[in-house]
Amino acid sequence: MTQGVVDQASAGKADTTSTPTKYVYSFGGGKADGNGRMKDVLGGKGAGLAEMTNAGLPVPPGFTIQTESCREYMRGSVSPKVDAEMHAALDRLEKLQGQKLGTGENPLLVSVRSGAKFSMPGMMDTILNLGLNDKAVEALAKLSNNPRFAYDSYRRLIQMFGDVVLDVPKKKFEHIFDTIKEREGVKFDYELQPDALKEIIVEYKKLVRKETGKDFPQGPLDQLVQARDAVFRSWQNDRAKTYRRINHIDDWLGTAVNVQAMVFGNLGENSGTGVGFTRNPATGEHVFFGEYLMNAQGEDVVSGVRTPLSISELERAMPKVYDHLRAITWKMEKHYRDMQDFEFTIQDGKLYMLQTRNGKRTGLAAVRIAIDMVREGLITQEEAIFRVEPNQLYDFLVPRLIEKGEKIEVLATGLPASPGAAVGQIVFTAEDAVKFHANGAYRTIILVRGETTPEDIAGMEVATGILTSRGGMTSHAAVVTRGMGKCCVAGAGDCTVDEHAKELRVKGHTFKQGDWISLDGTTGRVIAGQLKTLPAQPDDPDLVKFMSWVDPVRKLRIRANADVPRDAKQARLFGAEGIGLCRTEHMFFAEDRIGHMRTMILSENEKDRREALKKLLPMQRADFLGLFKAMESLPVTIRLLDPPLHEFLPQREDLLVEISHLEDTKPRSPKLKELRPLLARVQELHETNPMLGLRGCRLGIAFPEITEMQSRAIFEAAVAVKSKGGDPHLEIMVPLIGSIEEMRNQAAIVRRVAADVFKEKGETVDFMVGTMIELPRAALTADQIAEEAEFFSFGTNDLTQTTFGISRDDINHFLPSYIKQGIFKQDPFATLDQAGVGLLVKMATAKGRNTRPNLKVGICGEHGGDPESVKFCHKIGLNYVSCSPFRLLTARLAAAQAALQEIQTGPDIHSGTC
Ligand code: PEP
Ligand code: MG
Repeated sequence: MTQGVVDQASAGKADTTSTPTKYVYSFGGGKADGNGRMKDVLGGKGAGLAEMTNAGLPVPPGFTIQTESCREYMRGSVSPKVDAEMHAALDRLEKLQGQKLGTGENPLLVSVRSGAKFSMPGMMDTILNLGLNDKAVEALAKLSNNPRFAYDSYRRLIQMFGDVVLDVPKKKFEHIFDTIKEREGVKFDYELQPDALKEIIVEYKKLVRKETGKDFPQGPLDQLVQARDAVFRSWQNDRAKTYRRINHIDDWLGTAVNVQAMVFGNLGENSGTGVGFTRNPATGEHVFFGEYLMNAQGEDVVSGVRTPLSISELERAMPKVYDHLRAITWKMEKHYRDMQDFEFTIQDGKLYMLQTRNGKRTGLAAVRIAIDMVREGLITQEEAIFRVEPNQLYDFLVPRLIEKGEKIEVLATGLPASPGAAVGQIVFTAEDAVKFHANGAYRTIILVRGETTPEDIAGMEVATGILTSRGGMTSHAAVVTRGMGKCCVAGAGDCTVDEHAKELRVKGHTFKQGDWISLDGTTGRVIAGQLKTLPAQPDDPDLVKFMSWVDPVRKLRIRANADVPRDAKQARLFGAEGIGLCRTEHMFFAEDRIGHMRTMILSENEKDRREALKKLLPMQRADFLGLFKAMESLPVTIRLLDPPLHEFLPQREDLLVEISHLEDTKPRSPKLKELRPLLARVQELHETNPMLGLRGCRLGIAFPEITEMQSRAIFEAAVAVKSKGGDPHLEIMVPLIGSIEEMRNQAAIVRRVAADVFKEKGETVDFMVGTMIELPRAALTADQIAEEAEFFSFGTNDLTQTTFGISRDDINHFLPSYIKQGIFKQDPFATLDQAGVGLLVKMATAKGRNTRPNLKVGICGEHGGDPESVKFCHKIGLNYVSCSPFRLLTARLAAAQAALQEIQTGPDIHSGTC
């Protein structure tokens, strides 16, 4: 019986598992005990090897020790059956190969690899060439007529085994290796001669003895058992745990262990190894694609030490092997009905397939392959819809970095706040951005800020990309850039942005104004230097065709968050079926408008405020006119003003600095007369928690003239459009409601102003007054609120903030440690917390519809563009999701996948009710 690592916290799970009837599954020699559907038992790799064997492919034989053995190991004791079945399987393997593990003139060598249900690339351990020992290495040297290869294989085994199984620090092996390599004066590992390799082996063995107090095990079976257990243990290493947390993989799945006969691609010029794809993974083109090297091991192909040859060369060099490989790979593609990523080895002119799996691909390739495969009759149109990850559709809408063939230095990784790529010269202030753009000094600009404020808007407009060192997924920079379709990396905490010194300091580098950097807003990476980009392709005919399959399937309507006519037009191009959120305060972000907005907010009395509002009215009316025209008869949801004051007022600290500077240098400056009262008013309005302060409906309740002005602008614009033959569909939305009384107050103003305008103009338009549900109290009393509100839209940015009690602008301070410790699986501002916030959404929807059965319900927080959250919205029966224009394709596809999944598996009754 093998003793394992007991995890006390989870040991109780032992009782719930029944003993399996079979622990070890053989494959090879034309048949396999398992098959491709047994991923739970055999892991992905083991199931794949069984399936490949069943498909008649030339797979080196071996056996898979199933995942339950690993779970037993974690619980502290492995059934004695595991050893017994393993010995029997090894016996079968030895017979099949006509070899004995690590003994005889032709010793069998095996690889021992992990393989969990879900792929966890590189997270767990592997041991190659197992079975070699002092005797077997001599036999191998003789047999292969290649002593260099034999000693190199042995020294690799001692190093891997020492590191993975015996816990001897890898560095110590590397030190020995490098010292001898240097002494021999060789540049590449493969230049080391047999004598030098023998010396390395002697030193390695001494090291093992010194570090462990024992000799390197010479018994092949002993090696095998120890290696198997080390692979079990590697399921619990930190890397693997972190990977599982990030990818939501259950810690209790465990890994299988695959033991497989080694085949060698480095036996001479008639041997080789390579990797390939059945279609081009970057473009989707239907061509055979891959690389190989003769006289090499797998790692040589990917390590970059030798330049691999294109697979088409193989056709010339070994035509028979090439034809065999092509025949096999096409067969695999037909068998798996998907593009395959495969690995092969040629040993002495004989082809072996080591691995095949569905290949990773870009969004462009995913769409093209899905369409081609439907045309070829390999898959159905419905299956094609699942062959593309919703987020991959970004690839069509935004530029992307070209990374292939480039040496990339990632300086920092921030939040992928707005997708796409941006390459440009750094500028540290909005004014500089505007200046250098206007005078043509910089062609493309990256605006780098600690965080952005509305004052930066002009600079953001001219910049190609934005980088901030602070702020989350709903920070100003993130929200505004997503609306603009501009690349943004936000909250890159490793970056120090010194706006005064005009320096960006990161990873030991100092970047100055004018230096080039590249941003990847899809992954959040900040990259040194000037990479090239691929442009967006929103009209790609394959994309258009794919979306024509997607749209008829979904039930959810998809709207866009768009504030100005330009964004609305963009949104329609990307398939928006309405505007789900127009943030009216954003209409005043433009440079010539923000001043009026500020004057209005800073007004000390109603008279001054009305004066300022008068100036804002025609601007708003013109914007609404533009929106209604752009959206024609599609619904447009306009939210009444909701400006968190700190986002719109000058910063108190900046004013203090400016005033004291003027007092020191120009005490008579007339500017001081302007600034001092401004500071006094800013101080008066200062809020400790502006996100919970005078915002949302509170503003319209405290200053009803604001709601009046906005309602007037909306209705005057709508009436004007209608009188010219238009058909505007209006939904007026009151933000941050917590009670029915607040809703009544604001709805009354809206309806009164509507009546006034209709009377004045002699024309009416249909409209609805509804609310955002952004506070837990609104969700809890949704049945009451629905008496007054004609529709609900969940503002899940604020609802997440208020449910968790976490500031949406400050989550970055602790999110990394929350993720690391598994407290959060993901950023709740990016992916809806279904258990908490989602429960409120579900409950409020049900309560609201109890009062008003036809209540239209949508969501307009950032979650409206997140695939998982969209699927949740479908499940709980919302009418629509609304997201930024550049997420529309993603939301459309996610909604279609959710609808199809429901048809295939039936409705999720637990999500649909409460
Ligand atoms: C929300 O809170 O989810 C929302 C859409 O409103 P805002 O982000 O403007 O607060
Ligand atoms: Mg909100």
